[in-house]
Amino acid sequence: MGDSSYEEECDYLFKAVLIGDSGVGKSNLLSRFSKDEFRLDSKPTIGVEFAYRNIRVGDKLIKSQIWDTAGQERFRAITSSYYRGALGALLVYDITRRASFENVTKWLHEIREFGSSDMVIVLVGNKSDLGHSREVSEEEGRSLAELESLCFMETSALQNSNVEEVFLAMVANIHKIMSQKSL
Ligand code: GDP
Repeated sequence: MGDSSYEEECDYLFKAVLIGDSGVGKSNLLSRFSKDEFRLDSKPTIGVEFAYRNIRVGDKLIKSQIWDTAGQERFRAITSSYYRGALGALLVYDITRRASFENVTKWLHEIREFGSSDMVIVLVGNKSDLGHSREVSEEEGRSLAELESLCFMETSALQNSNVEEVFLAMVANIHKIMSQKSL
């Protein structure tokens, strides 16, 4: 995705946020999606970061603006401004860190407190390449997603597995909801 497509005229602009414990792989998922590169030594920095990418859904060109907490989740400094106007959220946990999965419910409360009621939320079990250290089964992730009415996917930012799919699923679902609203 080069600069030329960035300049293309878009039909819509969607904001979406990345949420989840520190270290689960949010910024690597985002950099994979927006630049297709994997940063092995990424360090959490303070301050919100965001990236853009244009996505075609049917005949519409959608500019998605994805926000990343960039380490702020450690300090619980995320405020309502992070969620304001967001139509989608990728709620990420690390399949090798059970605590990050147990915290999903806490993050969901926050999304539902600060986010809009019809936000598209995708539950993402990242680091699927580390199957040998797995602490959360795929089935557990899927069950929680079903219970909470979320979409679900396991990803690997390292192996670039399902990364494209997870962002595209979120954007396509947002587009579907927006289209239904404007009918
Ligand atoms: P964030 O704090 O949620 O933004 O997490 P980061 O994106 O900074 O990643 C935290 C650590 O996990 C870094 O050392 C990454 O290299 C590593 N990491 C991220 N995604 C993956 C993945 O899919 N597989 C593996 N094996 N490591 C990953």
